[in-house]
Amino acid sequence: MASKLEVLCAEKGLKMTEQRRVIARVLSDSTDHPDVEQVYHRASKLDSKISIATVYRTVKLFEEANILERHDFGDGRARYEEATEQVHDHLIDVNSGEVLEFTDAEIHEMLSKMAQNLGYRLIDHRLELYAVREGCSAIK
Ligand SMILES: [Zn+2]
Repeated sequence: MASKLEVLCAEKGLKMTEQRRVIARVLSDSTDHPDVEQVYHRASKLDSKISIATVYRTVKLFEEANILERHDFGDGRARYEEATEQVHDHLIDVNSGEVLEFTDAEIHEMLSKMAQNLGYRLIDHRLELYAVREGCSAIK
């Protein structure tokens, strides 16, 4: 069965090679916002001939086609996830690097109001919380 990303690629008219298909599948199956190296490791388990250069190129292509979202969570590594209609925000555990997703309608409403006050209509927002677990101190 085609993964969600593969379907999106087809909709955008992207030519799908077998390797692109594998990379699309890996990204569709990932829920942890992997970086290119992690995508490469997962993809090479499915197809050992895939090179990291191919993964870089493909991820960039998907990003440019707006089917992949890129995030920078402050550690200098670009991380990726499937672009979704559903707005969600991220909390980054600065000790473990773990990324949690959350949605809060009130936040979006508040930000909408802020944009409105400036004479704008909010269409999207990005919010990243950098945090440590209760009772822990930041390692860095
Ligand atoms: Zn996310």
